[in-house]
Amino acid sequence: DVPVYFNYGITKKMLGSRRTIRSGFVLPVAKDSMSMNPSPPLNSSPPLSSSPEEVDDRLINIDPKMVDLIKNEIMHKYKPMNWDDIAGLEYVKSIIKEAVVYPILRPDIFTGLRRPPRGILLFGPPGTGKTLIGKCIASQSNSTFFSISSSSLTSKWVGESEKMVRALFAVAAVHQPSVVFIDEVDSLLSKRSESEHDSSRKLKNEFLVQLDGAATSEEDRVLIVGATNRPQELDDAARRRFARRLYIPLPEKKARIQILNNLLGTVSNDLNEINIEEIGHKTTGYSGADMDILCREASMEPLRSIPPDEIPHIIKDKVRPVNIDDFKSALQTVRPSVSKDDLSQYIEWNKEYGAMQ
Ligand code: ADP
Repeated sequence: DVPVYFNYGITKKMLGSRRTIRSGFVLPVAKDSMSMNPSPPLNSSPPLSSSPEEVDDRLINIDPKMVDLIKNEIMHKYKPMNWDDIAGLEYVKSIIKEAVVYPILRPDIFTGLRRPPRGILLFGPPGTGKTLIGKCIASQSNSTFFSISSSSLTSKWVGESEKMVRALFAVAAVHQPSVVFIDEVDSLLSKRSESEHDSSRKLKNEFLVQLDGAATSEEDRVLIVGATNRPQELDDAARRRFARRLYIPLPEKKARIQILNNLLGTVSNDLNEINIEEIGHKTTGYSGADMDILCREASMEPLRSIPPDEIPHIIKDKVRPVNIDDFKSALQTVRPSVSKDDLSQYIEWNKEYGAMQ
């Protein structure tokens, strides 16, 4: 159901060649008749008539509307990021640099035995920096960053998700080097069940094909980063496709303190080193995201001591700095989100399947 009119006369495969979408092209049908079913929100200009983009031959068989949607909603301009923006995880960061970042930067050296994996899996409790790592890989390797969550793929693109995956990888190939970050990858590639719908089976298969790289050449530099909080739900076939499976654990005390110091940089406070050390100590078991919530909660305390009718007029400097007591009360309400039981499951899974080969 690829619109024939879009394949306007290009039959020869010309790798790397581009031509403008507008050149001599007249839309043969009313725009409305091209809408997908169900129609996802389009938040930008219609693709055929006003897109200034050029068409790469890898996109010829892809619905141009999908290409535009991917560019608008899934492809991101990331903020430049540094490895130091991610607290702790020193070992994981060093593996990732060697296994995927340098190979993207120097594909000429990382060939043959040194060829990088197509897919890596980051697993561990929620809020531990998996998404940050995905963004940092893209930033540090000057790659285009695509990010999608499995739930949006299956809920937002009902009936279209399989085509969407194909389109996503085609756009990623055009914009390579690329990093495709798939959050909640377990729900996309979960173990087969009796009740599995035909559509989700097809989607899974399409994804596995893309992971195998069957549709792309050896030289393509498209890295797939899967993230999951539930690695045990992953299908065996899918798990094997992610050659490197890295456990992203909860932050240790030193990392928690680094996160704390970063966050406190944005608000006036009078915490000294001993206070910081104390908070670091009392937050054993907190994820990076929990630390974020804790700091937000503590930073609200000074405002709560101001009578509500004064808040609209108060001079900013009159708001007292955040102190250790604010953190003590925040620690009462903000509790760690990951249970000990969950943690031991990750550790078990890591022992069995955590792999670096
Ligand atoms: P995940 O993808 O593992 O669920 P995220 O990468 O989205 O978690 O992290 C959520 C938030 O928690 C981040 O935006 C950041 O504020 C904080 N955070 C988590 N882990 C770290 C870390 N290692 N270093 C710095 N901040 C972190």
